[in-house]
Amino acid sequence: MSDFTLLSPAQIRAIPKVDLHRHLDCSMRWSTLCELAPAFGFELPSNQAARREKFLVTEPMVDLNSVLQKFGAAQKLLASEQILSRLAYEACEDAYNDGVLVLELRYAPNFINDAHPHLTFEKIHVAFVDGIERAKKIWPIAVGLICIIQKTKSVAVAATVIDFAIDHRETFIGVDLADPENDFDPRPMASLFQRAKAESLHITIHAGETPLLSSPGSVQESIEILGAERIGHGIQIIRDLGLVEFVRFRRIPLEVCPWSNYLTQAFPRLEDHPLRILWNAGVLLTLNSDDPGIFDSRLSDEYEIAQRYHQFGLSEFTRANDVAAAASFIPVQERQKVWPRQILSN
Ligand SMILES: [Zn+2]
Repeated sequence: MSDFTLLSPAQIRAIPKVDLHRHLDCSMRWSTLCELAPAFGFELPSNQAARREKFLVTEPMVDLNSVLQKFGAAQKLLASEQILSRLAYEACEDAYNDGVLVLELRYAPNFINDAHPHLTFEKIHVAFVDGIERAKKIWPIAVGLICIIQKTKSVAVAATVIDFAIDHRETFIGVDLADPENDFDPRPMASLFQRAKAESLHITIHAGETPLLSSPGSVQESIEILGAERIGHGIQIIRDLGLVEFVRFRRIPLEVCPWSNYLTQAFPRLEDHPLRILWNAGVLLTLNSDDPGIFDSRLSDEYEIAQRYHQFGLSEFTRANDVAAAASFIPVQERQKVWPRQILSN
């Protein structure tokens, strides 16, 4: 902390960044959402505040239903290949303009297909890859796609999604398991993730996000049973110091998203987030944006929180980004092409 000086928003934006945890299906640019919504039957309130309230999550959640409605609205707009390609292209553009040089985008094929049965997994994926490829021709950014399996789906459905990811391992870098945690038993999914790993797909798992009793243990299960190389969130290990040591010792990077954790009330206040404690304990931490569309946020906002509430300065940001650059699932030669420092392993 010796070099700690408050960075200006422009200085934060200029930091070369890595974002390992960004949900592409929840990354629609606000202006695009407003442009598309009327065609899908959504009335747009003329008052800006009311409009934001209708579609965005910008304050801590008090009731889950209103939040789910907002995700449902965003889901309804993912209605054509053209829209999906545009979404991916704009997500890359927005990330690059925020200083992101290495970007991992993840999406759940079921989340889109459930609302739009005519969009097969294949069509969805081709559209996203098209948007990313168009963006990569314009901006020097390394981009990778992660396929999300939803905990709420049956093992049979999960198996079809894993098969889909394996069939497209040239354009997927890894697989993820997401959705609410509620005492989820990972064992029935273990063989699916072993199969993905055997086919050279990397594994990250959402775990240890919500303040449940089982939450810290789910981090260990994700690592030991599902073979997670990184953990999405993982911050609830703070409730069990043995697990903090386990994660540190195994050198498993956590994909931390402080603003998201605050909005979902993983911790009551931004200053209660365990970012600084885990950092000082030697856990490998990375800073990520999670759902920048629905939250109307940028990765820079996470840095703002980290510096304002947890005294992160340039040295911490540099280190967190080097950790993330090393932990990325994108082939190292692609990452190294855009990254300003040599990428070493964690
Ligand atoms: Zn997430």
